Amino acid sequence: MGAWITPTTAERFRRHLPELVAVLAVVLLLDRTGLVVDQPAWLVPLLLVLGAGVISAAFSRWGAEATDEDLRLRAMVQVAVLTIITYATGWGFALAMVQLFAVADNVKYSGSRAVRPVLAWAVGGLALGQLAVAADLLPSAIDPTASHTIAVFSGLVLVLVGTRIRRMTVAKEEVEAELSGSEARFRSLVQQSSDVIMVIGGAQVTYVSPSVERVMGYREDEVVDRPYLDLVHPDDRQAVVDFVISLMPTPGATGLVEFRLLHADGHWMTVESNCHNLLHDPQVGGFVTTCRDISDRKALESELEHRAFHDALTGLANRALFRDRVEHTLARSTRDIDLTYGVLYVDLDSFKAINDTLGHAVGDGVLNHVADLLRECIRDVDTAARLGGDEFAILLDGMKDQSGAARVASRILEGLKRPVTIRGHEVQVDASIGIAIAEPGQDAETFLRNADIAMYMAKSAGKGTYEIFEPSMHLQVVERLTMEADLQHAVDRGEFVLHYQPIVELTDGTIRGVEALVRWNHPERGMVSPAEFIPLAEETGLIIPMGRWILREACRQVTDWQTRFDTEPPLSVSVNVSMRQFSHGDIVRDVREALEESGLAPGSLTLELTESALVQDTEATIALLHQLKALGVRLAVDDFGTGYSSLAYLQRFPLDVLKIDRSFVEGMVSGAQSPALVRAIVEIGHSLHLETVAEGIEHDEELTQFRALHCSLGQGYLFARPGGQADIEHLIADRARGRADLTVELAVDLPVDESAASPGR
Ligand code: C2E
Ligand code: MG
Ligand code: MG
Repeated sequence: MGAWITPTTAERFRRHLPELVAVLAVVLLLDRTGLVVDQPAWLVPLLLVLGAGVISAAFSRWGAEATDEDLRLRAMVQVAVLTIITYATGWGFALAMVQLFAVADNVKYSGSRAVRPVLAWAVGGLALGQLAVAADLLPSAIDPTASHTIAVFSGLVLVLVGTRIRRMTVAKEEVEAELSGSEARFRSLVQQSSDVIMVIGGAQVTYVSPSVERVMGYREDEVVDRPYLDLVHPDDRQAVVDFVISLMPTPGATGLVEFRLLHADGHWMTVESNCHNLLHDPQVGGFVTTCRDISDRKALESELEHRAFHDALTGLANRALFRDRVEHTLARSTRDIDLTYGVLYVDLDSFKAINDTLGHAVGDGVLNHVADLLRECIRDVDTAARLGGDEFAILLDGMKDQSGAARVASRILEGLKRPVTIRGHEVQVDASIGIAIAEPGQDAETFLRNADIAMYMAKSAGKGTYEIFEPSMHLQVVERLTMEADLQHAVDRGEFVLHYQPIVELTDGTIRGVEALVRWNHPERGMVSPAEFIPLAEETGLIIPMGRWILREACRQVTDWQTRFDTEPPLSVSVNVSMRQFSHGDIVRDVREALEESGLAPGSLTLELTESALVQDTEATIALLHQLKALGVRLAVDDFGTGYSSLAYLQRFPLDVLKIDRSFVEGMVSGAQSPALVRAIVEIGHSLHLETVAEGIEHDEELTQFRALHCSLGQGYLFARPGGQADIEHLIADRARGRADLTVELAVDLPVDESAASPGR
């Protein structure tokens, strides 16, 4: 029994106490007026109180979670209690309606499924009650037969009303099930969503979905009641306010906006927010915003954008971005006329050689090193770009004057002078820099072309320098480009001729040999000096086929002379070989073929190399020189004294001849060069068993001095200018006939000022 009287039982009993008291009062009143059957006065009140207790206990025992079985028991208890009480009053047949209480109570606890068991018990109880009345076991306030009729009617009404209640309850339950299903779905959507839903009323957040914790790292209560703009990036606040204001006048208006929101961990996340104006909706009274984190998408977008406008290797701006910046800057330059804008074109010298010899990884390292250096040399407002290959550019934005551009160029060239170690190789690169300063109203095309032209000029002026664009450069470049094209044709059309300059014994003027000097017989310009076209031929690589022709032609010519003029020793020929032929061509094969083809004795051929060609990549050079020596040819160092001052290498190379540069010869007489130095050179030649040739002897004094120094050979205008085949043949024939003058007048071989300056072999 103890299990039945629980705190819930008592509580339930207390809750129904007012109803109980009311019923008791009515029953006692009726009893007083004698309208109920004759019973002891305490019976009905006692049954009422006990019944209420039993019912409360039944409900607390079989509560809301009652199974169908429990439900039937509970209904039975309640219906039985009510039946007993109503029949105790003698009005049981009429009070069947009271069972609607049982229906209501049970529906409240267990829904529509409770209606049928209650009705079944109630009808059963009514039938039992009437049987008991008929058998005179229970009292009846009216005639028993009439009571049966009333009992049938009240049973019928009870069933009809009960069924109606059941149907209504079923319908309500269906709606509720539907609602709670959709609410559950909605709830889980809101919770699982990667979006954060907020309602913003006034300027505060009035609701935020639980997903805020996962997406933004806040607890819901940290966000609710907080001013919304608190979370928005200060730079984006105005845009957000403007956006909200734009939606304000139109109820139901929606729109998308992008801005940055503060994550709880302090970082800014970019969100895309869909905002819906529900200010007019009393349920909401604010803006409903759905914020989606698009930081990843933004990062990807900006990565893609970065790639589209930057060089993948160095991270510098690419050509497209550079061009764009230049255009913007030029547009701005028309407004800020006090400021100067400049472009630097930076082209690395001999980068290709690094790439070819040390490999692409080192090449890439060099490019990155240069990129870093450029970044160091400019200000934040400037732009450094890689235009492709080994070409870089800098845009200098708003300088006070153009000297700033020259300073940046010097700094870059200085920086490049410091060697760097890349993958274990010590590398040093030079660059040629062209500078252009923007002219008012200039277009980007011209501006950039000017920088390019200046760079071109810097390159041809000698590497490792910068040039500032001047209008005259344009013409020079055009000329140079025309010449480049002409030169290409000249090789194809065979416009080159060889002139020869005798090399004589200083003692008696005997012609020992000739030096072959190339000339370009230009269809319009006449004879062009090698100083004008050899550097270009070297740069373009045309020197390789050209040099091959020179070797063959010189060997052929001298073989011819040797057979026609029988001199003792036989006439020799010296041929100049460029650095480029030496490092990139197959010089050994070319020489061998020239000798084989002409039949010239190898000892009659001397190859002249400049110091700079010799000191490049010494080990490889020494190997190559030995291969040439193995063919039997002689080797000469040309223009000695103009390149590296170190004499150490002379011993390491298998050389035969030392040609002392013209500047020493000329300088010694004018006093600019100390005779002691020249003497030292001649003596070094002697000690290394090298034949010494004094180049560019023009005056008798020079001849006298070199004779005194025991320099064996000489070459110069004093003896003979370079001349064509016929001139030289006359000369040799004269000598053979015994004309002993040392000096011979030959037709001037080059009409223009023929500078003997070495064109940079
Ligand atoms: P280089 O090999 O030192 O040739 C000597 C230069 O000095 C020649 O100039 C010659 O005409 C000039 N010269 C000779 N005697 C005198 C003199 O007394 N006074 C003065 N002022 N000059 C004198 P050229 O022919 O103009 O050649 C210049 C340079 O061009 C040569 O210097 C050589 O480096 C290069 N070169 C000439 N022919 C060839 C060639 O076939 N192949 C290559 N790779 N380079 C060549
Ligand atoms: Mg020479
Ligand atoms: Mg020379």
